[in-house]
Amino acid sequence: MIIPKSHPRYVSLKTREQLVRGNRSGIVVPEGLIAHGRGEAFDYILGEKTGQSARNAITAAAALLLTARRPVISVNGNTAALVPGELVRLAQAVGGDVEVNLFHRGSDREKRIARTLRRFGASRVLGVGKDASSRVPRLASMRRQIDPSGIGDADVVLVPLEDGDRASALHRMGKKVIAVDLNPLSRTSRSANVTIVDNITRALPLLNREVRRLRRYDRKRLSRIVGSFNNEKNIVLAVKEITRYLDKWNGT
Ligand code: ATP
Repeated sequence: MIIPKSHPRYVSLKTREQLVRGNRSGIVVPEGLIAHGRGEAFDYILGEKTGQSARNAITAAAALLLTARRPVISVNGNTAALVPGELVRLAQAVGGDVEVNLFHRGSDREKRIARTLRRFGASRVLGVGKDASSRVPRLASMRRQIDPSGIGDADVVLVPLEDGDRASALHRMGKKVIAVDLNPLSRTSRSANVTIVDNITRALPLLNREVRRLRRYDRKRLSRIVGSFNNEKNIVLAVKEITRYLDKWNGT
């Protein structure tokens, strides 16, 4: 389908098209399309733009990734279809790795996602097949399968478009969790250490830019940024941004 650039919903339609293509090529599951719908609804009431709350979280996330001993970027089908290059660039910029982690795990799908990431420059992709030989304790879904040299060893994990169960299970394992989720009310958002309430398609390029900017800072300064970030307060700010946007439609 050709979407004219002048269409008022060009970005949103293009994103949908990317996911549909991902679905046809075996990267995105139908459930992923539904999850995107939930995200879109929240994006709508955020005014489809990156707010101050997301910007604060992006700065904290960049600082946390840059101070991590072993940062790992977890990749699922939707993120591989939407921002594969940005994910790979981010892992490279923070000296980390990308790891495939799927709720609906399938050998063929894992390999397709890994191939996509390699095509976008990843020199290695963790978590594929037998490499995902470790388990996240007290987690029932297939997402419990992790690579011992990746998420298993990580101190900081970026988990875009996550399910809340795994985000809190990783947190229980003592890992610092960075989430990207358009829904500020989700369990994922509430259990992460740093929650970026924004569309992954806008947040990842901004996060990459912020990592490049903060790379000049020394460790002490980066740790200060992480230490002064309060996720609970920042989520409240995201909710306020939504209510402020909705108030415009109230005539208030
Ligand atoms: P939780 O288990 O954390 O309460 P959930 O059950 O809503 O969350 P899923 O059904 O797995 O989780 O949905 C995935 C989440 O990803 C949703 O909260 C949705 O808002 C979010 N999401 C979907 N698409 C995007 C996107 N493009 N950018 C950011 N977030 C997105």
